[in-house]
Amino acid sequence: MFPGGPAAHELRFWVTRGILDPTLLDACGGATMTVSQDLLEILRCPYCVSGDTRKPGDDPGRLELVRDGEWLICQEPDCGRKYPIREDIPVMLIEEGDKWVSTQVGDLPEPGALV
Ligand SMILES: [Zn+2]
Repeated sequence: MFPGGPAAHELRFWVTRGILDPTLLDACGGATMTVSQDLLEILRCPYCVSGDTRKPGDDPGRLELVRDGEWLICQEPDCGRKYPIREDIPVMLIEEGDKWVSTQVGDLPEPGALV
């Protein structure tokens, strides 16, 4: 239905995790986004926005797109979690981000090659 973009259920998952602002989901009609600057503006590191690990500030857990748009890196100084983007869908799971905390950007594998 929306080739190249995240499925609607993925976006709803992000909303339930507090990663995505639901008003923005309505604004885009459900799911027409690919990983773009727009999406980057509203995605946040799940570790840094949730529960006991929430970072201080109005807008913690901002992400930076690196490696030709294949990885997202949390910008919080003491976080360093990295999230792969597979088939245009960011894998915004804390468990996934945890795996790459100590991996240098230059050493990150191709997300498509991850299992
Ligand atoms: Zn983070």
